[in-house]
Amino acid sequence: MRLTVIGTGYLGATHAACMAELGHEVLGVDVDPDKVAALQAGRVPFHEPGLPELIARHTASGRLRFTTDYAEAGAFGDVHFVCVGTPQLKGSEGADLTYVDSAFAAVAEHAAPGALVVGKSTVPVGTAGRLAQAHGGVEVAWNPEFLREGFAVEDTLRPDRLVFGVRSERAETILREVYASVLAAGTPLVAADFPTAELVKTAANAFLATKISFINAMAELCEAAGGDVGVLAEAIGHDDRIGRKFLRAGVGFGGGCLPKDIRAFAHRADELGVSLAFLREVDAINMRRRDKVVELARELCGGSVLGARVAVLGAAFKPDSDDIRDSPALNVAARLRLDGADVTVYDPEAMDNARKAFPLLGYALSAEEALGGADLVLHLTEWPQFREIDPERARSLVSRPRIVDGRGVLDADRWTAAGWQFRALGRPAPV
Ligand code: NAD
Repeated sequence: MRLTVIGTGYLGATHAACMAELGHEVLGVDVDPDKVAALQAGRVPFHEPGLPELIARHTASGRLRFTTDYAEAGAFGDVHFVCVGTPQLKGSEGADLTYVDSAFAAVAEHAAPGALVVGKSTVPVGTAGRLAQAHGGVEVAWNPEFLREGFAVEDTLRPDRLVFGVRSERAETILREVYASVLAAGTPLVAADFPTAELVKTAANAFLATKISFINAMAELCEAAGGDVGVLAEAIGHDDRIGRKFLRAGVGFGGGCLPKDIRAFAHRADELGVSLAFLREVDAINMRRRDKVVELARELCGGSVLGARVAVLGAAFKPDSDDIRDSPALNVAARLRLDGADVTVYDPEAMDNARKAFPLLGYALSAEEALGGADLVLHLTEWPQFREIDPERARSLVSRPRIVDGRGVLDADRWTAAGWQFRALGRPAPV
Protein backbone atom coordinates (compact mmCIF):
# COMPACT_ATOMS: atom_id res chain seq x y z
CA MET A 1 0.00 0.00 0.00
CA ARG A 2 1.04 3.64 -0.34
CA LEU A 3 1.15 5.30 3.07
CA THR A 4 2.08 8.76 4.22
CA VAL A 5 3.30 9.43 7.74
CA ILE A 6 2.82 13.03 8.82
CA GLY A 7 5.19 14.19 11.54
CA THR A 8 8.50 12.31 11.55
CA GLY A 9 9.65 12.67 15.17
CA TYR A 10 10.20 9.74 17.53
CA LEU A 11 6.85 8.19 16.70
CA GLY A 12 6.50 9.12 13.03
CA ALA A 13 10.02 8.24 11.86
CA THR A 14 9.70 4.86 13.57
CA HIS A 15 6.24 4.25 12.15
CA ALA A 16 7.36 5.24 8.64
CA ALA A 17 10.43 2.97 8.72
CA CYS A 18 8.48 0.05 10.17
CA MET A 19 5.69 0.41 7.62
CA ALA A 20 8.36 0.25 4.88
CA GLU A 21 9.77 -2.82 6.62
CA LEU A 22 6.30 -4.38 6.42
CA GLY A 23 6.45 -3.92 2.63
CA HIS A 24 4.54 -0.66 2.09
CA GLU A 25 5.63 2.31 -0.02
CA VAL A 26 5.98 5.14 2.51
CA LEU A 27 6.29 8.91 2.25
CA GLY A 28 7.17 10.73 5.49
CA VAL A 29 6.09 14.37 5.78
CA ASP A 30 7.40 16.93 8.23
CA VAL A 31 7.38 20.72 8.47
CA ASP A 32 11.00 20.66 9.68
CA PRO A 33 13.19 20.73 6.54
CA ASP A 34 16.35 19.74 8.46
CA LYS A 35 14.68 16.62 9.83
CA VAL A 36 13.37 15.73 6.37
CA ALA A 37 16.80 16.24 4.79
CA ALA A 38 18.49 14.05 7.43
CA LEU A 39 15.94 11.26 7.10
CA GLN A 40 15.95 11.43 3.30
CA ALA A 41 19.75 11.04 3.47
CA GLY A 42 19.18 7.89 5.56
CA ARG A 43 20.15 9.51 8.89
CA VAL A 44 18.05 9.43 12.06
CA PRO A 45 18.26 12.74 13.94
CA PHE A 46 17.70 11.07 17.32
CA HIS A 47 18.82 7.93 19.13
CA GLU A 48 16.62 4.87 18.74
CA PRO A 49 18.17 1.38 18.63
CA GLY A 50 17.57 -0.45 15.33
CA LEU A 51 15.98 2.54 13.60
CA PRO A 52 19.04 3.83 11.68
CA GLU A 53 19.40 0.45 9.97
CA LEU A 54 15.75 0.42 8.85
CA ILE A 55 15.79 4.03 7.67
CA ALA A 56 19.05 3.50 5.76
CA ARG A 57 17.85 0.27 4.16
CA HIS A 58 14.49 1.57 3.00
CA THR A 59 15.60 5.05 1.89
CA ALA A 60 18.32 3.31 -0.16
CA SER A 61 15.79 1.00 -1.79
CA GLY A 62 13.46 3.95 -2.50
CA ARG A 63 10.56 2.37 -0.61
CA LEU A 64 10.80 5.11 2.01
CA ARG A 65 11.03 8.80 1.11
CA PHE A 66 10.59 12.05 3.01
CA THR A 67 9.22 15.42 1.98
CA THR A 68 7.94 18.73 3.32
CA ASP A 69 5.35 18.94 0.55
CA TYR A 70 1.75 18.19 1.55
CA ALA A 71 0.57 18.31 -2.07
CA GLU A 72 2.98 15.48 -2.89
CA ALA A 73 1.79 13.58 0.20
CA GLY A 74 -1.88 14.05 -0.67
CA ALA A 75 -1.37 12.70 -4.17
CA PHE A 76 0.80 9.80 -2.94
CA GLY A 77 -1.04 8.14 -0.06
CA ASP A 78 -3.99 5.74 0.13
CA VAL A 79 -3.77 6.04 3.90
CA HIS A 80 -2.32 8.98 5.85
CA PHE A 81 -1.04 8.51 9.40
CA VAL A 82 -0.83 11.63 11.56
CA CYS A 83 2.01 11.38 14.11
CA VAL A 84 2.62 15.02 15.08
CA GLY A 85 3.29 16.18 18.63
CA THR A 86 0.65 16.96 21.26
CA PRO A 87 2.69 18.75 23.94
CA GLN A 88 1.32 20.34 27.09
CA LEU A 89 -0.15 23.79 26.50
CA LYS A 90 1.81 26.59 28.13
CA GLY A 91 0.08 27.72 31.31
CA SER A 92 -2.43 24.84 31.27
CA GLU A 93 -2.56 21.12 31.97
CA GLY A 94 -4.33 20.57 28.65
CA ALA A 95 -2.84 19.24 25.40
CA ASP A 96 -1.83 21.60 22.62
CA LEU A 97 -3.73 20.32 19.58
CA THR A 98 -2.48 22.99 17.17
CA TYR A 99 -0.15 20.57 15.37
CA VAL A 100 -2.77 17.83 15.06
CA ASP A 101 -5.35 20.31 13.82
CA SER A 102 -3.05 21.82 11.23
CA ALA A 103 -1.78 18.42 10.05
CA PHE A 104 -5.36 17.18 9.56
CA ALA A 105 -6.34 20.39 7.78
CA ALA A 106 -3.32 20.18 5.46
CA VAL A 107 -3.78 16.52 4.62
CA ALA A 108 -7.54 16.87 4.16
CA GLU A 109 -6.95 19.70 1.71
CA HIS A 110 -4.64 17.62 -0.48
CA ALA A 111 -5.81 14.02 -0.05
CA ALA A 112 -8.03 12.19 -2.52
CA PRO A 113 -11.74 12.33 -1.59
CA GLY A 114 -12.58 9.61 0.92
CA ALA A 115 -8.90 8.90 1.74
CA LEU A 116 -8.36 7.42 5.18
CA VAL A 117 -6.62 9.78 7.62
CA VAL A 118 -5.52 7.91 10.74
CA GLY A 119 -4.50 9.74 13.89
CA LYS A 120 -1.75 8.09 15.93
CA SER A 121 -0.89 11.01 18.19
CA THR A 122 -2.06 10.85 21.81
CA VAL A 123 -5.07 13.15 22.06
CA PRO A 124 -7.81 14.09 24.52
CA VAL A 125 -10.97 12.03 24.08
CA GLY A 126 -13.31 13.71 21.61
CA THR A 127 -10.58 14.86 19.21
CA ALA A 128 -11.20 12.20 16.54
CA GLY A 129 -14.93 12.98 16.43
CA ARG A 130 -14.26 16.70 16.18
CA LEU A 131 -11.77 16.22 13.33
CA ALA A 132 -14.14 13.86 11.48
CA GLN A 133 -16.82 16.53 11.64
CA ALA A 134 -14.44 19.26 10.49
CA HIS A 135 -13.06 17.27 7.52
CA GLY A 136 -16.02 15.52 5.89
CA GLY A 137 -14.15 14.98 2.61
CA VAL A 138 -11.87 12.32 4.13
CA GLU A 139 -12.52 9.42 6.46
CA VAL A 140 -10.97 9.68 9.93
CA ALA A 141 -9.78 6.79 12.12
CA TRP A 142 -7.71 6.68 15.31
CA ASN A 143 -4.96 4.13 15.88
CA PRO A 144 -3.21 5.11 19.12
CA GLU A 145 0.44 4.18 19.52
CA PHE A 146 1.94 2.44 22.54
CA LEU A 147 5.60 2.21 21.55
CA ARG A 148 8.30 2.78 24.14
CA GLU A 149 11.33 4.87 23.22
CA GLY A 150 14.35 2.58 23.32
CA PHE A 151 12.19 -0.33 22.04
CA ALA A 152 10.30 1.62 19.38
CA VAL A 153 11.11 -0.61 16.39
CA GLU A 154 10.37 -3.83 18.24
CA ASP A 155 7.17 -2.37 19.71
CA THR A 156 5.98 -1.25 16.26
CA LEU A 157 6.76 -4.48 14.43
CA ARG A 158 5.60 -6.72 17.30
CA PRO A 159 3.17 -4.68 19.40
CA ASP A 160 1.30 -6.08 22.42
CA ARG A 161 -1.93 -5.12 20.67
CA LEU A 162 -3.36 -2.92 17.95
CA VAL A 163 -6.23 -0.57 18.68
CA PHE A 164 -8.38 0.78 15.84
CA GLY A 165 -10.88 3.55 16.52
CA VAL A 166 -13.15 3.35 13.49
CA ARG A 167 -16.57 4.45 12.32
CA SER A 168 -16.92 2.13 9.32
CA GLU A 169 -16.14 -1.39 8.20
CA ARG A 170 -14.18 0.14 5.33
CA ALA A 171 -11.81 1.93 7.72
CA GLU A 172 -11.28 -1.26 9.72
CA THR A 173 -10.66 -3.29 6.56
CA ILE A 174 -8.09 -0.80 5.29
CA LEU A 175 -6.28 -0.75 8.65
CA ARG A 176 -6.32 -4.56 8.77
CA GLU A 177 -4.67 -4.51 5.36
CA VAL A 178 -2.00 -2.03 6.50
CA TYR A 179 -1.15 -4.22 9.49
CA ALA A 180 -1.84 -7.57 7.77
CA SER A 181 1.52 -9.15 8.62
CA VAL A 182 1.45 -7.88 12.22
CA LEU A 183 -2.03 -9.35 12.67
CA ALA A 184 -1.00 -12.59 10.94
CA ALA A 185 1.67 -12.99 13.64
CA GLY A 186 -1.14 -13.23 16.21
CA THR A 187 -1.17 -9.64 17.54
CA PRO A 188 -4.48 -9.01 19.34
CA LEU A 189 -6.68 -6.39 17.69
CA VAL A 190 -9.19 -4.26 19.55
CA ALA A 191 -11.57 -2.43 17.23
CA ALA A 192 -13.54 0.26 19.03
CA ASP A 193 -15.42 3.49 18.62
CA PHE A 194 -13.49 6.77 18.59
CA PRO A 195 -13.78 7.69 22.28
CA THR A 196 -12.82 4.23 23.49
CA ALA A 197 -9.78 4.06 21.20
CA GLU A 198 -8.61 7.49 22.36
CA LEU A 199 -9.20 6.56 26.00
CA VAL A 200 -7.29 3.26 25.76
CA LYS A 201 -4.08 5.20 25.22
CA THR A 202 -4.55 7.75 27.97
CA ALA A 203 -5.86 5.10 30.37
CA ALA A 204 -2.81 2.89 29.73
CA ASN A 205 -0.43 5.78 30.40
CA ALA A 206 -2.37 6.83 33.49
CA PHE A 207 -2.16 3.29 34.84
CA LEU A 208 1.59 3.05 34.26
CA ALA A 209 2.22 6.45 35.84
CA THR A 210 0.06 5.46 38.81
CA LYS A 211 2.03 2.25 39.30
CA ILE A 212 5.32 4.17 39.36
CA SER A 213 3.98 6.81 41.72
CA PHE A 214 2.44 4.14 43.93
CA ILE A 215 5.81 2.57 44.61
CA ASN A 216 7.38 6.00 44.96
CA ALA A 217 4.76 6.90 47.58
CA MET A 218 5.73 3.67 49.37
CA ALA A 219 9.34 4.89 49.12
CA GLU A 220 8.32 8.10 50.89
CA LEU A 221 6.69 6.03 53.58
CA CYS A 222 9.75 3.79 53.90
CA GLU A 223 11.90 6.90 54.29
CA ALA A 224 9.61 8.15 57.07
CA ALA A 225 9.26 4.80 58.83
CA GLY A 226 12.69 3.28 58.23
CA GLY A 227 11.62 0.55 55.78
CA ASP A 228 13.21 -0.63 52.55
CA VAL A 229 11.11 -0.06 49.43
CA GLY A 230 13.26 -2.43 47.36
CA VAL A 231 12.36 -5.34 49.60
CA LEU A 232 8.74 -4.18 49.79
CA ALA A 233 8.46 -4.00 45.98
CA GLU A 234 9.93 -7.45 45.56
CA ALA A 235 7.56 -8.91 48.11
CA ILE A 236 4.38 -7.35 46.73
CA GLY A 237 5.52 -8.00 43.14
CA HIS A 238 5.45 -11.76 43.75
CA ASP A 239 1.68 -11.44 43.71
CA ASP A 240 0.72 -11.99 40.04
CA ARG A 241 -2.13 -9.55 40.37
CA ILE A 242 0.41 -6.83 41.16
CA GLY A 243 3.43 -7.99 39.13
CA ARG A 244 6.99 -6.76 39.42
CA LYS A 245 7.23 -4.50 36.39
CA PHE A 246 7.18 -0.74 36.90
CA LEU A 247 7.62 -1.24 40.63
CA ARG A 248 11.14 0.16 40.99
CA ALA A 249 11.24 3.17 43.28
CA GLY A 250 13.41 6.02 42.08
CA VAL A 251 13.49 9.57 40.84
CA GLY A 252 10.31 8.95 38.88
CA PHE A 253 9.04 9.25 35.36
CA GLY A 254 9.64 11.97 32.80
CA GLY A 255 9.80 12.24 29.04
CA GLY A 256 7.54 13.60 26.34
CA CYS A 257 4.60 11.33 27.19
CA LEU A 258 3.66 10.24 30.73
CA PRO A 259 3.81 13.63 32.50
CA LYS A 260 1.93 15.61 29.87
CA ASP A 261 -0.47 12.75 29.14
CA ILE A 262 -1.68 12.36 32.72
CA ARG A 263 -2.12 16.13 33.04
CA ALA A 264 -4.07 16.33 29.79
CA PHE A 265 -6.15 13.33 30.86
CA ALA A 266 -7.12 14.87 34.22
CA HIS A 267 -7.82 18.17 32.46
CA ARG A 268 -10.06 16.56 29.82
CA ALA A 269 -11.87 14.54 32.50
CA ASP A 270 -12.64 17.80 34.33
CA GLU A 271 -14.13 19.20 31.13
CA LEU A 272 -16.33 16.12 30.95
CA GLY A 273 -17.41 16.55 34.59
CA VAL A 274 -15.47 13.53 35.86
CA SER A 275 -12.80 13.84 38.53
CA LEU A 276 -9.46 12.11 37.94
CA ALA A 277 -7.96 14.08 40.82
CA PHE A 278 -5.87 11.08 41.84
CA LEU A 279 -3.76 11.68 38.72
CA ARG A 280 -2.76 15.07 40.11
CA GLU A 281 -1.48 13.26 43.20
CA VAL A 282 0.33 10.78 40.94
CA ASP A 283 1.99 13.79 39.28
CA ALA A 284 2.77 15.44 42.64
CA ILE A 285 4.34 12.26 44.08
CA ASN A 286 6.45 12.00 40.95
CA MET A 287 7.70 15.58 41.22
CA ARG A 288 8.40 15.18 44.96
CA ARG A 289 10.95 12.46 44.13
CA ARG A 290 13.01 15.05 42.28
CA ASP A 291 12.79 17.28 45.36
CA LYS A 292 13.96 14.36 47.46
CA VAL A 293 17.11 13.89 45.38
CA VAL A 294 17.87 17.60 45.71
CA GLU A 295 17.31 17.32 49.48
CA LEU A 296 19.60 14.27 49.74
CA ALA A 297 22.25 16.11 47.73
CA ARG A 298 22.13 19.01 50.18
CA GLU A 299 22.21 16.67 53.16
CA LEU A 300 25.22 14.74 51.87
CA CYS A 301 27.05 18.01 51.18
CA GLY A 302 26.54 19.15 54.77
CA GLY A 303 23.42 21.30 54.32
CA SER A 304 24.19 23.17 51.11
CA VAL A 305 25.51 22.34 47.65
CA LEU A 306 26.93 25.84 47.20
CA GLY A 307 30.34 25.42 45.58
CA ALA A 308 30.13 21.62 45.58
CA ARG A 309 31.21 19.71 42.48
CA VAL A 310 28.32 17.44 41.53
CA ALA A 311 28.61 14.71 38.88
CA VAL A 312 25.26 13.80 37.34
CA LEU A 313 25.20 10.43 35.57
CA GLY A 314 22.43 10.63 33.00
CA ALA A 315 20.57 13.31 31.09
CA ALA A 316 18.04 11.36 29.00
CA PHE A 317 14.71 10.71 30.69
CA LYS A 318 15.34 6.99 30.29
CA PRO A 319 18.11 4.71 29.00
CA ASP A 320 18.45 3.84 25.29
CA SER A 321 17.15 7.26 24.37
CA ASP A 322 18.52 10.74 23.76
CA ASP A 323 15.17 12.27 24.66
CA ILE A 324 15.54 14.87 27.40
CA ARG A 325 11.94 16.11 27.46
CA ASP A 326 10.96 16.60 31.10
CA SER A 327 14.02 14.62 32.19
CA PRO A 328 14.23 14.10 35.97
CA ALA A 329 18.04 13.97 35.70
CA LEU A 330 18.32 17.38 34.05
CA ASN A 331 15.65 18.86 36.29
CA VAL A 332 17.67 17.88 39.36
CA ALA A 333 20.95 18.98 37.72
CA ALA A 334 19.53 22.41 36.84
CA ARG A 335 18.14 22.92 40.35
CA LEU A 336 21.49 22.10 41.95
CA ARG A 337 23.17 24.51 39.55
CA LEU A 338 20.71 27.21 40.67
CA ASP A 339 21.67 26.37 44.26
CA GLY A 340 25.28 27.21 43.39
CA ALA A 341 26.67 23.73 42.71
CA ASP A 342 29.22 23.17 39.97
CA VAL A 343 27.36 20.47 38.02
CA THR A 344 28.90 18.19 35.40
CA VAL A 345 26.59 15.92 33.41
CA TYR A 346 27.44 12.85 31.38
CA ASP A 347 25.05 10.79 29.26
CA PRO A 348 25.97 8.22 26.60
CA GLU A 349 23.51 9.60 24.02
CA ALA A 350 21.76 12.76 25.16
CA MET A 351 24.68 15.19 25.42
CA ASP A 352 23.83 17.31 22.37
CA ASN A 353 20.20 17.70 23.37
CA ALA A 354 21.15 18.44 26.99
CA ARG A 355 23.74 21.04 25.98
CA LYS A 356 21.22 22.85 23.81
CA ALA A 357 18.51 22.89 26.48
CA PHE A 358 20.75 23.50 29.53
CA PRO A 359 23.79 25.43 28.28
CA LEU A 360 24.76 26.53 31.80
CA LEU A 361 25.47 23.01 33.04
CA GLY A 362 28.92 21.50 32.66
CA TYR A 363 29.35 18.46 30.43
CA ALA A 364 31.93 15.67 30.44
CA LEU A 365 32.89 13.33 27.61
CA SER A 366 32.76 10.23 29.78
CA ALA A 367 31.45 9.06 33.13
CA GLU A 368 35.05 8.96 34.40
CA GLU A 369 35.61 12.58 33.40
CA ALA A 370 32.36 13.61 35.13
CA LEU A 371 33.43 11.84 38.32
CA GLY A 372 36.83 13.57 38.38
CA GLY A 373 37.07 15.68 41.53
CA ALA A 374 33.37 15.34 42.38
CA ASP A 375 32.10 16.00 45.91
CA LEU A 376 28.88 14.14 45.12
CA VAL A 377 27.69 11.72 42.43
CA LEU A 378 24.03 11.44 41.39
CA HIS A 379 22.95 8.39 39.39
CA LEU A 380 19.79 9.56 37.65
CA THR A 381 19.31 7.70 34.34
CA GLU A 382 19.38 3.92 34.31
CA TRP A 383 21.95 3.32 31.56
CA PRO A 384 23.41 -0.20 31.89
CA GLN A 385 26.96 1.19 31.65
CA PHE A 386 26.46 3.17 34.87
CA ARG A 387 25.66 -0.07 36.65
CA GLU A 388 29.02 -1.40 35.46
CA ILE A 389 31.00 1.39 37.12
CA ASP A 390 33.48 -0.08 39.56
CA PRO A 391 33.04 1.64 42.95
CA GLU A 392 36.75 1.19 43.80
CA ARG A 393 37.90 2.82 40.58
CA ALA A 394 35.22 5.52 40.92
CA ARG A 395 36.43 6.26 44.42
CA SER A 396 39.92 6.96 43.12
CA LEU A 397 38.49 9.62 40.79
CA VAL A 398 36.23 11.65 43.08
CA SER A 399 37.13 14.15 45.70
CA ARG A 400 34.57 12.83 48.20
CA PRO A 401 32.94 9.40 47.83
CA ARG A 402 29.24 10.21 48.20
CA ILE A 403 26.58 8.89 45.86
CA VAL A 404 22.80 9.02 45.52
CA ASP A 405 21.37 6.16 43.49
CA GLY A 406 18.24 7.77 42.07
CA ARG A 407 17.33 4.61 40.15
CA GLY A 408 17.60 1.98 42.86
CA VAL A 409 19.80 -0.37 40.85
CA LEU A 410 23.31 0.03 42.27
CA ASP A 411 24.61 -2.51 44.77
CA ALA A 412 24.60 -0.60 48.06
CA ASP A 413 26.85 -3.12 49.80
CA ARG A 414 29.53 -2.96 47.10
CA TRP A 415 29.57 0.83 47.05
CA THR A 416 29.60 1.04 50.83
CA ALA A 417 32.38 -1.56 51.06
CA ALA A 418 34.41 0.59 48.66
CA GLY A 419 34.15 3.45 51.14
CA TRP A 420 31.25 5.37 49.64
CA GLN A 421 28.57 7.17 51.58
CA PHE A 422 25.64 5.63 49.69
CA ARG A 423 22.02 6.79 49.63
CA ALA A 424 19.07 5.48 47.63
CA LEU A 425 15.46 6.58 47.58
CA GLY A 426 13.16 4.68 49.92
CA ARG A 427 15.96 2.71 51.54
CA PRO A 428 17.70 3.18 54.84
CA ALA A 429 21.26 4.51 54.64
CA PRO A 430 23.61 1.51 54.90
CA VAL A 431 25.48 1.37 58.23
P1 NAD B 1 8.11 14.68 18.24
O1 NAD B 1 8.09 16.06 18.74
O2 NAD B 1 9.36 13.87 18.29
O3 NAD B 1 7.64 14.67 16.71
C1 NAD B 1 6.60 15.44 16.20
C2 NAD B 1 6.97 15.82 14.75
O4 NAD B 1 5.85 16.43 14.13
C3 NAD B 1 8.11 16.82 14.66
O5 NAD B 1 9.12 16.30 13.80
C4 NAD B 1 7.45 18.08 14.08
O6 NAD B 1 8.34 18.83 13.26
C5 NAD B 1 6.32 17.46 13.28
N1 NAD B 1 5.21 18.36 12.96
C6 NAD B 1 4.61 19.28 13.74
N2 NAD B 1 3.60 19.87 13.09
C7 NAD B 1 3.54 19.29 11.87
C8 NAD B 1 2.68 19.44 10.76
N3 NAD B 1 1.66 20.30 10.76
N4 NAD B 1 2.91 18.67 9.67
C9 NAD B 1 3.93 17.78 9.64
N5 NAD B 1 4.77 17.59 10.68
C10 NAD B 1 4.58 18.33 11.79
O7 NAD B 1 6.94 13.93 19.02
P2 NAD B 1 6.76 12.34 19.27
O8 NAD B 1 7.46 11.94 20.51
O9 NAD B 1 7.03 11.61 18.00
O10 NAD B 1 5.21 12.30 19.60
C11 NAD B 1 4.21 12.44 18.60
C12 NAD B 1 2.89 11.98 19.18
O11 NAD B 1 2.95 10.59 19.47
C13 NAD B 1 2.48 12.65 20.49
O12 NAD B 1 1.09 12.79 20.51
C14 NAD B 1 2.92 11.66 21.54
O13 NAD B 1 2.20 11.79 22.73
C15 NAD B 1 2.61 10.35 20.83
N6 NAD B 1 3.37 9.20 21.27
C16 NAD B 1 4.72 9.32 21.44
C17 NAD B 1 5.44 8.22 21.88
C18 NAD B 1 6.92 8.33 22.14
O14 NAD B 1 7.45 7.42 22.81
N7 NAD B 1 7.60 9.37 21.69
C19 NAD B 1 4.79 6.99 22.11
C20 NAD B 1 3.42 6.89 21.87
C21 NAD B 1 2.73 8.02 21.46
